[in-house]
Amino acid sequence: MTNPFENALMQLKRATAVQAFPEAFMKQISVPNREVRISIPVVMDDGSTQVYEGYRVEHNNARGPYKGGIRFHHDTDINEVKALAFWMALKCAVANIPMGGGKGGITVDPKKLSKTELEKLSRGWARGMSDILGPKKDVPAPDVNTTPEIMTWMNDEYMKISGDTTGATFTGKPLNAGGSEGRGAATGMGGWYVFQALREKYNIQPGSTVVIQGFGNVGGHAANIFSANGYKVIATSDSKGGIVKEDGLDIAALENWKKEKGTLSGFPGSRDLTNAELLELPCDILIPSALENVITFDNAPRIKAKFVLELANGPITPEADEILYDRGIPVVPDILANSGGVTVSTFEWDQNLKNEHWSEEMVNAKLLEILNRESIAIYEKSVAAKTDLRRAAFIVALERLAKAMGY
Ligand code: GLU
Repeated sequence: MTNPFENALMQLKRATAVQAFPEAFMKQISVPNREVRISIPVVMDDGSTQVYEGYRVEHNNARGPYKGGIRFHHDTDINEVKALAFWMALKCAVANIPMGGGKGGITVDPKKLSKTELEKLSRGWARGMSDILGPKKDVPAPDVNTTPEIMTWMNDEYMKISGDTTGATFTGKPLNAGGSEGRGAATGMGGWYVFQALREKYNIQPGSTVVIQGFGNVGGHAANIFSANGYKVIATSDSKGGIVKEDGLDIAALENWKKEKGTLSGFPGSRDLTNAELLELPCDILIPSALENVITFDNAPRIKAKFVLELANGPITPEADEILYDRGIPVVPDILANSGGVTVSTFEWDQNLKNEHWSEEMVNAKLLEILNRESIAIYEKSVAAKTDLRRAAFIVALERLAKAMGY
């Protein structure tokens, strides 16, 4: 299994071969400031006790409080969380929001837990981490398999322990519990804004075909937004597998189907395919929106998309990046493409601290302005440095981090 943190360091190496940074800065930015591991005992519904392993990695806070989601997944481990925390530090610098980078996780398959067990586990994570969290210290949020409801439990637990009254320590909360308008759709919406800013530079036509790996909080919203704007979403998938329909999927009908049947499979007019097959479908725009390391040295030569928008974190390995670059397939990197989520999280944090509530129009207008500006800045860096968008985004982020760290 590829180690995501090693991949992240390989990306760093590739970017800094294009533009060098001071050696002392490189040493500091290559390691997290702090790694915390906790044991979380949970009394299960059958009376037995299970002990889960929880993590928080605080990579860098030179630009603001550590910021980043918490992932619940059976494959999550410290190396994955370290990679994700590093990418968060770069992502917040790319979006130029006043946040540092961190990430959390628990090794667990949450689908196997009852709601009571899930709540106990979530509260246990917040309790175990309470010393290092806080609106000015470390501000977690949702990630894979963590929901607004889980954020409410964690925030409630943290507020009880710490006496915090701002409610700004966790973002991605539900609207009725201090959440922001637009946060649910923000990663997908942000991806759309980034795509819009860059589309013409790469000759992608309106109404092109789209394949989306993942139909969760990120992929589901992306499917809706691209489809509502006239693009033809021909295939999507969940962890069990995918479906394809060459003349385009009706996304609203597909959402109902999945809610009712618990699977995408069998959707009228479509045929089933595996996640591996889905990635290799001929299409204009491929949007990986699930987990890391899905496009690798092995399948990169067979990718038929004309353009890749990374809404997942780390879906393309550095070897695959090299292959796609040589094949002339532009990749909009995760740290730019999916930065809409953490940007609206930062709006939520800001609203909580100021006791304000912004309208959805205001949230989206601010998001659009930021992502438009930063997408163009990174595109221009890629042209000036004669490199791809990932290396350009790393360089822009590293310049901002280096400045904040006094280099
Ligand atoms: N988990 C999301 C990400 O990877 C959002 C993090 C946040 O909102 O803080 O960017």
